[in-house]
Amino acid sequence: MTYTPTLPQIGQWRSAAELAALQDDQLALMLKWAQRSPFYQTRFGTEFPTDRAGLSAAPLTTKQDLRDNYPYGMLAVRKADLATYHESSGTAGQPTPSYYTAEDWIDLAERYARKWVPITPDDMFLVRTPYALMITGHLAQAAARLHGATVVPGDNRSLAMPYSRVVRVLHDLGVSLTWSMPTETLLWAAAARAAGHNPGTDFPSLRALYVGGEPLSLARRRRISEIWGVPVVEEYGSTETGSLAGECQHGRMHLWADRAIFEVYDPETGRISRDGSGELVVTPLYREAMPLIRYNLADNVEVSYADCECGWLLPSIRVLGRAAFGYPVGGAKITQNTLEDLVFELPVAYEVLFWRARADADRLRVQIEVPDASRDAACAALTDAIRRTYGVDSEVTGVSPGTLVPHRVLTAVHDVVKPRSLFGADEDWDKALLYY
Ligand SMILES: [Zn+2]
Repeated sequence: MTYTPTLPQIGQWRSAAELAALQDDQLALMLKWAQRSPFYQTRFGTEFPTDRAGLSAAPLTTKQDLRDNYPYGMLAVRKADLATYHESSGTAGQPTPSYYTAEDWIDLAERYARKWVPITPDDMFLVRTPYALMITGHLAQAAARLHGATVVPGDNRSLAMPYSRVVRVLHDLGVSLTWSMPTETLLWAAAARAAGHNPGTDFPSLRALYVGGEPLSLARRRRISEIWGVPVVEEYGSTETGSLAGECQHGRMHLWADRAIFEVYDPETGRISRDGSGELVVTPLYREAMPLIRYNLADNVEVSYADCECGWLLPSIRVLGRAAFGYPVGGAKITQNTLEDLVFELPVAYEVLFWRARADADRLRVQIEVPDASRDAACAALTDAIRRTYGVDSEVTGVSPGTLVPHRVLTAVHDVVKPRSLFGADEDWDKALLYY
């Protein structure tokens, strides 16, 4: 089966002007769809934006707007035309709703499928992100199905799929592509070793690890790739919008600007521009169920229109997320991103996969999981690197493997049974009803 796309594809525009024209055409249609949204009817009344100039004058739509209009205040189609309903993870209590039609799903699946290691009909694709409420698992599933791959629905945070089972399917089924947060791939590596496998040699079918949903430093990314012996392909998106950016072969993350208009908002000055640093603002162009006009994702990003060797003619993005946020220690600012780099720049032979750190006022406390044989060397090397980078003292402790990530988490097998109320004399009736 070869999939023939109907929406714009990379390569279809040969200049920035052609891309802008493509956006303008679709924007006019999308703004018509938005006129059916109760939220935007109230917001714009008879002064509805109809083109790029109108868009530039429109106020931002915030996450709070979505919450205030829960559940159907943003709905611009008949409820019967919806295909799926989702909510984003995050703040407890206040749900952030998102919904899509079947037509919207074509755009969603196509955007997700833009991977430089492509999805093919021969692939066994393990989806290891949540299926509950969020969009992430469904995105990967839809993209894989669109391209004829076989989906292994692994979910995440599910009792039915402990790490031992993930390793079994990766190994026995010959999984070739996976979709997860980056941290998952390190947990699989530890679980694979616990099951007696070598991640680098015992999973020959594996072609790439698709990752997203969590900041990833360059050194950690290199380490993951080194451990599994395949490329790590990163993407960026959200439940409210689907995939927004993906990597080209040259390691740059590009915004899918043929499918959405991207802007950058500076919360200090209130200025909105096409590039630079600030919060990412998105106007999806192919979304009918829940049109969004200048939706502020409030993620810290850096957008650039510099040329890239890939020739896609798409802006590139660096997602700073919480990377810019740090903790003070002895006059230095420690960020997760830079510290993660130092940990994963330790030689691979030290076998450090898991760590945690705490920023006390006068020193940085770091714990790394490391086998006895390389403990002293690893701790000394990391202490040096922290002093060189930040000029602060640290207390680096090597702890035994299994301390931060318990061995049983990597090896346990859960019974997944169905509920029942009648038990035999020698059975454990505490399992009645509470079957999980
Ligand atoms: Zn590129």
